[in-house]
Amino acid sequence: MKNKRIYCDHNATTPIHKDVKALFKTALDIYGNASSLYLTGRQAKEELEQARETIASFIHANSDQLIFCSSGTEANNHVLNHFIAEKCVSKKPVHILASAIEHSSVLSTLENLKKYAIDYDLIPVDSNGHIKIDELKHLIKPHTKLASIMLANNEIGSIQDIKTLTKLCHEHNILFHCDGVQALGKIPIDVTQLDIDFMSFSAHKIYAPKGCGALYIKDEEVLSNLIHGGHQERGLRASTENIPGIIAFRKAIELLDVNRYSTHTSELCKRLIKKLNSLEPVFFNSSKTGLSNTLNISFPGCDGHALAMNCDLEGLDLSTGSACSVGSVEPSHVLTAIGLSNDLNKSSLRLSFGLSTSLADIDIIAEIIISTVTRLRSL
Ligand code: PLP
Repeated sequence: MKNKRIYCDHNATTPIHKDVKALFKTALDIYGNASSLYLTGRQAKEELEQARETIASFIHANSDQLIFCSSGTEANNHVLNHFIAEKCVSKKPVHILASAIEHSSVLSTLENLKKYAIDYDLIPVDSNGHIKIDELKHLIKPHTKLASIMLANNEIGSIQDIKTLTKLCHEHNILFHCDGVQALGKIPIDVTQLDIDFMSFSAHKIYAPKGCGALYIKDEEVLSNLIHGGHQERGLRASTENIPGIIAFRKAIELLDVNRYSTHTSELCKRLIKKLNSLEPVFFNSSKTGLSNTLNISFPGCDGHALAMNCDLEGLDLSTGSACSVGSVEPSHVLTAIGLSNDLNKSSLRLSFGLSTSLADIDIIAEIIISTVTRLRSL
């Protein structure tokens, strides 16, 4: 085993930035309940609102359009599960559209909505992972109430043309939810310009601790609360706020530099692609115009899990599919959706880099992958 481990799974989660960690530790002393009226509570409330302001302005929203929650999964659940209440109140059928490459926090929630007689359709994507607009148009029904389409995909990095999609959906009176979890910090986000109705975010994907997320809501009148209790988050999400997590989230947002990030990570990916080309046959499945940090690669003749496990023994942390499906031997639904055969699907690795990945790391990663693939292919 090599001495230094190299972390190549930044789309699964990120290491906490040292400045975020330092602030998080001091923020543990801000223990007041932000709903309490005395000074200790007011101090917590001030931090809460300052964080809301900073994060909202980063995505070009007003601070009263952002609520905090526990994760990207919760934010996605909040929007989708609202339609249970909507159906009960309106007593009218509800249909939802989502892309075929959404994260499991959207797909499993949609599957669960079937229990409430809410049906859904998945919009197919092309080989680059982009929504097929004509198919989307065909899937729209008179009772389609919501479309849920992610901005950037966690496995292949494809980025959708959200502005065109929101325009089309709004023309049919369909609300638009966008999972922005993987896009935050990697590409610019302007919710106002994109005209999105809801957008989900997660702190642990941008070098902050886990347990904190946010939901942008263009117009709070259209959403019911997911968690019932107190009046926190303007009554939309009861529960005492996670002030240290929210302060850390704010700091991580302040540290984001989208241009520096994309210049650095695209250089890393280009270098790795060049080196791995020597392993022919090798297929690069990630979108050519997608996230600059994400590579999804199939190595025919190798089992992806065996490859990942052998690379793990050599010091590489990398994944075979989306983080949440690690341990499962099912082919990735994202790779299936872009048309990959089962064999290529099961011979794939996902590598996702971050600011702490260096060019020297890439050389070591390439060396390990090349020797491991060569060895496994010869068995
Ligand atoms: N959406 C996407 C696209 C993701 O990649 C993830 C996590 O991998 C999530 C949602 C869930 O976020 P969280 O881990 O904060 O629940």
